[in-house]
Parts: sequence; C-alpha cells; structure tokens
Amino acid sequence: MVKIGILNLQGAVSEHYDMTKKAIEKLGLDIDVETVRYSDDVKTCDGIIISGGESTVIGKLINERGIDKTIKDYDIPVFGTCAGMVLLGKKTDFNQPLLGLMDINVKRNNYGRQKDSFEAEIDIFNQKFPGVFIRAPSLESYDKSKENIRVLSIFDEKIIAIQQEKNIAISFHPELTENTLIHEYFINNIL
Ligand code: GLN
Repeated sequence: MVKIGILNLQGAVSEHYDMTKKAIEKLGLDIDVETVRYSDDVKTCDGIIISGGESTVIGKLINERGIDKTIKDYDIPVFGTCAGMVLLGKKTDFNQPLLGLMDINVKRNNYGRQKDSFEAEIDIFNQKFPGVFIRAPSLESYDKSKENIRVLSIFDEKIIAIQQEKNIAISFHPELTENTLIHEYFINNIL
C-alpha cells in the first residue's frame, strides 16, 4: 500500500497528519499515513511531508539520522511547508544543513517575526486559498534554466509555492486551515 510519512522531528506534525488523512479520505483513496522519525521508517514511504517548525533543528536531526541520504537514495518525493520549504532548498541566507532537493534559494523569515504572522488569501491552482504565514520564508531565486521547475503561486510579488519534479515547497501553512487542496495535490502527484 502507498504510504505517506509525516516527518516527526519538530514542529507542526499532528496538524499535517490530520490534514493528510482528511485529504486521502476526500480523494477516496486507500493510503497509509504514519509519522516517521528515523531513516529506516522514511525508507518505507512513498512520500514525505516536512512541517513548519525550526528548520535549523529539523535539518540537524535529518542530517544526524541520515534521513537526507535515505530520501535521496530512494528518490522519495517531499512536500515541505515553511521550515520544510527552507530545507528543500539548495541555499538559504543562513548557514544550516539542508536537503537541497530543489534548485531554489530561500530567504528565511521574509515576513518578519512570530508577532508579524498574518493570514492572506492567495491564488493557487486557479483557486483561492487561505494562506497562513508564520515567520514564513519566500523564494529569493530559482534556477530558471531547469525545465522541471514550476512556480505554483506568487503573493506580494514573491514566489510562495514552487514545484520541481515531485517535490513541492510552500512558504505558508495549509495544515492550519480546513482546506485540503494542496495536500490532495501532493498525494495525486506521488501516485
Ligand atoms: N522561520 C522558520 C525557519 O526558518 C520557519 C517558520 C515556520 O516553519 N513556521 O526555520
């Protein structure tokens, strides 16, 4: 059976778990969802979700546990939100361990600090979506020479959602809404 792993190292893990379950139910699919903490569990997944949280902490644990190597060796698609977006990048404005699966350069905390968190309606997949931004990153740049990169959403002149092959990076928090649209998209994408 297809299995999606929610990386459970730090951050908004249970919200992603619930949202993924909800999206699967909505799609009427039979897919397993598990929280995963170690390389051996990650290995058995067909897709991994990396939540928001503190990318420096999550990245260090990913690196220490060899989860980065496993994801690359097994070519597992990753959906990263907020801190997850930072980790998917090849470069950030901070020196920290990254997965580097996408040819994107991410700017951390682009919208300020925790107290500057906000909600805004954004456009994605030709629909309106409630964007929840919490110390959110944005995209500084991406490798435009790569044909497998697709911008999914722009807000306030900044790229806030982008896809490269099966990997998806978004700067906001869909797991904190009631809307399963983006989770459904990731799931359909890995099947
Ligand atoms: N600013 C955080 C980081 O760069 C991400 C914040 C979040 O995930 N809500 O790690």
